[in-house]
Amino acid sequence: MSPKKSYSLETELVFTKSGDQYNASVAPLYQSATFKQDSLSQMGEYDYTRSGNPTRTHLQNHLAKIMKAQSAFAVSSGMGCLDVITRLLKPGDEVIAGDDLYGGTHRLLTYLNKKGDLIAHHYDTTNTELIKSKITDKIKMIFLESPTNPLIKVVDVKSITEHAHKVNPDIVVVFDNTMMSPILMTPLELGVDIQYESATKYLNGHHDIMAGVIATRSTKLAEQLYYIINSTGCGLSPFDSWLLSRGLRTLAIRVERQQENCVRIAKFLHQIGFKVRYPGLKSHPQYELHSSMCRGYGAVLSFETGNIKLSEKIVESTDIFGIAVSFGCVNSLISMPCKMSHASIDKKTREEREFPEDLIRLCIGIENVDDLIDDLTKALLKSGAVKINDRDELYNAVGLQPKL
Ligand SMILES: *Cc1c(COP(=O)(O)O)cnc(C)c1O
Repeated sequence: MSPKKSYSLETELVFTKSGDQYNASVAPLYQSATFKQDSLSQMGEYDYTRSGNPTRTHLQNHLAKIMKAQSAFAVSSGMGCLDVITRLLKPGDEVIAGDDLYGGTHRLLTYLNKKGDLIAHHYDTTNTELIKSKITDKIKMIFLESPTNPLIKVVDVKSITEHAHKVNPDIVVVFDNTMMSPILMTPLELGVDIQYESATKYLNGHHDIMAGVIATRSTKLAEQLYYIINSTGCGLSPFDSWLLSRGLRTLAIRVERQQENCVRIAKFLHQIGFKVRYPGLKSHPQYELHSSMCRGYGAVLSFETGNIKLSEKIVESTDIFGIAVSFGCVNSLISMPCKMSHASIDKKTREEREFPEDLIRLCIGIENVDDLIDDLTKALLKSGAVKINDRDELYNAVGLQPKL
């Protein structure tokens, strides 16, 4: 037999072989908690869905291919991934984590820290030399995320990971790839030991399930991760696995369109004069670093207005953009991180991390981009954020063709 051919990611996303007895075009849903055995001596491949289910296996095999992993595991949420991964540690183990992590990640690490389950050291992970100097043989795990959200800080994943493994080959470098998704970034190829992400976002893309995905190339880590998932029972349910398989197939085309829209909107806001954070803008201080690690920029941006009340007005004046946390869905969302997704980080910590309270986050969907820009324009005019008479004047100022 010829070696198994691997295709480009776009093709691999839609090309799956279900191995189904009836050759169903879509892998069937095994909505069953338990599996009957032929006899006491002849046990089948599956016995109980907490331990394994064919629908979940199908999804996991597909994910492993997409994430260039040896093993992938689907669990009940992105935070569920982190819960599983931190259970690899022993009480009192020291870890390094970013100081601009996802709010929920920060909450779980702080909780474990307070309980004495681990000792977390938070640093600015964009400062590669600082992080390198903090990696000693006491450190057991490193948590990285890039670009961070909503401050859009980029981390030099490869340099940090290489250095960590030089200090101690057993350090486990963990990377949260929720912001880029496997279509734009392959962290395992940059050397990280475990990659995880919230599949609630881009992977599923339709905001109808919560899910998380963990991937690794290490047989030893895979065995430990599986042991924990089976023990705690957080494996993704068959129905949600089936839905995630369905969402996954359109990942490439969704992200392509979302990103195209986002680039346009980032430029629009930048031209008006807002301070825009988006790794796809050449003005981003780490544009080069980001581009060296990723195949694109994603579809999340944030911008500052200079005034909290003004930001609130803008957020409340849009029509197409829904006011909601989360991102990665086909529809566009707008939010104020300080009041929503990042409210779990206390005000003092936010100040220390220079987190602008007026920051607005946009998560761009697949709508018609002119409609989105129109919607934002109306909100900017209504809120008084731009001192201009009407839409045509604003469009003229930034060189856009008004939509008829
Ligand atoms: C949403 C998110 C998570 C948590 O995922 P859930 O599926 O909501 O539990 C973790 N990391 C990042 C970067 C996220 O955006």
